[in-house]
Amino acid sequence: MDRPSDPALTSGLIRARASALGFDSVGITAANPPESIAFFESWIAKGYHGTMGYLARSVALRASLDSLLPGCQSVIAVGLNYNQPNPLQQGMPRLARYALGRDYHKVLRGKLKRLDNWLGSLDQSHVGRVCVDSAPVLEREFAHRAGLGWFGKNTMLIDTRRGSWFVIGLLLTTLRLEQDEPAHGGCGTCRLCVEACPTGCILFEDGRWQIDARRCVSYLTIEHRGPFDPALQEGIGDWTFGCDVCQEVCPFNQPRHHQPDRANMTTEPDFLDRRDWPPLETLAVIQPADWDSVTRGSPVRRAGIDGIRRNASVNLKRQKPD
Ligand code: SF4
Ligand code: SF4
Repeated sequence: MDRPSDPALTSGLIRARASALGFDSVGITAANPPESIAFFESWIAKGYHGTMGYLARSVALRASLDSLLPGCQSVIAVGLNYNQPNPLQQGMPRLARYALGRDYHKVLRGKLKRLDNWLGSLDQSHVGRVCVDSAPVLEREFAHRAGLGWFGKNTMLIDTRRGSWFVIGLLLTTLRLEQDEPAHGGCGTCRLCVEACPTGCILFEDGRWQIDARRCVSYLTIEHRGPFDPALQEGIGDWTFGCDVCQEVCPFNQPRHHQPDRANMTTEPDFLDRRDWPPLETLAVIQPADWDSVTRGSPVRRAGIDGIRRNASVNLKRQKPD
C-alpha cells in the first residue's frame, strides 16, 4: 500500500481503523518519558504495591519507552468498554465486571495485533509493540496523554462522557504521528469512592490521590497469597474476584450522566460471552481436576485455585455466619 504522506493523514486512518476493530476510544500521544515516574517510585518506596515485586523491579524500565521499542516515537492508546449488568446473586461468586467474560488481555491483544499488522501494511517503516498490562510501561499515563480519560480520586481513568468501565491497551510505534490533546476533567468536591471503599485504601498523600494496594479488595482477592489479615477480611464482603465498589458509586458511571444515545454498555461479544460459574460452595472446595475447565480463558485464573477457594470460603462465611 502507498505510504501516507503526512502524520495527520496516518493518524486519521489509524483512528478509523481502531474504530472499525471495535475499540470504543482511541488516541495518540508522543513517546516522551512518563512524567509520573517519580510518583510511581515513591508509591513503591512506601510498599503500597504489596507483594507485586515485578512492579518494584521494573521502575527503571518504565522511565523510557526505548527500553521496550528502540526508536519508539508515538503511542496509540485504545479503550474497550466492558460494562454490563452484574447483580449480586446469593450463593454465587461475585466477580468484578471486567472478569465476567473472556480475559480482556487476550481480547485487547488480539485486536491490537490486528491494528499493528494493518499499520505495517500501510507504512512499512512502522515497527510496533503491543502492550496490554504485560510490559513495564505506565499505561494509564500514556492513555491520559492520548485523551482517553483523566484520573479520578479512585485512580481510575475517567472519560467524562463514558465513565470508567473500560480497559486500555497500547500500540507503540516508530512512526511519528499527529498527537491528541490530553483528557481534561476532574472530580470536584465528590468523595463518593473514598467514602464507599470497604477498606479505606484510597488515600490523599504527597499532593496526589493513590491506592494502598495492600488493603485494596481487588489486590487482596487476586494477588494476595495466604489468609487475609482479620482486620481486612470484613471488607472482602461478597467479592470473590476483584472489586468494583469505587466505580459503581462514581457519578460518571451513572446512566443519567450519559447521553441518551449512549447506553454505556459493552457490545464486545467476548465480554458478553459470560460463563456459568459453580456456586460458592463448590468453588470453596474446587479440585485441581476441575479448575482448568472451570476457569479456562477467564482472568479469574490469575487468583489461583488456593486464592479462589479462600475467597469463596470467606464469602460463604459472611452469607452463612456460624
Ligand atoms: S477496588 Fe474496592 S477496595 Fe480497591 S480502591 Fe476500589 S473500592 Fe477500594
Ligand atoms: S466517585 Fe467521585 S471522587 Fe471518586 S472518582 Fe468518581 S467523581 Fe471522582
